[in-house]
Amino acid sequence: MIAVEEPRPAIDHAVLTNRLIAACRDVIATREADLCDLDRAIGDGDHGTNMRRGMDALAAESRQLAAMPLSEAMSRAGTILVMSIGGAAGPLYGTFLMELGAALRNVEAWPEALRRAVAAVARRGKSAAGEKTLLDVLYPLRDEVVRHTPLPLLAQRVQGFAEMTIDMQAMRGRASFLGERSIGHMDPGAASCALLAATICRELAEAGIE
Ligand code: ADP
Ligand code: MG
Repeated sequence: MIAVEEPRPAIDHAVLTNRLIAACRDVIATREADLCDLDRAIGDGDHGTNMRRGMDALAAESRQLAAMPLSEAMSRAGTILVMSIGGAAGPLYGTFLMELGAALRNVEAWPEALRRAVAAVARRGKSAAGEKTLLDVLYPLRDEVVRHTPLPLLAQRVQGFAEMTIDMQAMRGRASFLGERSIGHMDPGAASCALLAATICRELAEAGIE
């Protein structure tokens, strides 16, 4: 008899979207105080609160987002984040998702869409790698996705990317006002970005996405 492999059940896009949003909201709510502590050390102490507001706003529209085609949902989620997170991080996270949505509409391939979204964040922030921002997580994350690193492994690695910002001197945003005194602290934006990326990688892996 020929062994026939069981076909994997198709991933329900709406279920996955709801799960991703809930998981992102949970991790940020759990780590809100830690993110504020990091921002208190080299900024104004609001990054956890800002991110929490953003995740709550996404969760409030979770059902509507889940009903949209993926690229449209990304663009809408980006707009929600710009309006709700505020500060420096809002427009950056928002740009990331809006560009991802636009790229997915035109390109389809994830690595290329991610490359475009990261480039858009860099343009928006007028910032580059090594300047102690969330880009120091996004660039290596993009490179790993291009190399097709398995998602569970990537989930383990992203925290290390955020830790690399500890030894960097901030060149952008409020932390840059501290000059050399910004060295020795993890960048709060890099920390939130790593938390979200790890959460998303784990959820996608659990859903059977490779
Ligand atoms: P604010 O600085 O307005 O209080 P947040 O505290 O929410 O905003 O976000 C701060 C984070 O935003 C920083 O830790 C950094 O990662 C990111 N950031 C700030 N300015 C820039 C920039 N020009 N380019 C890229 N990232 C930036
Ligand atoms: Mg702040």
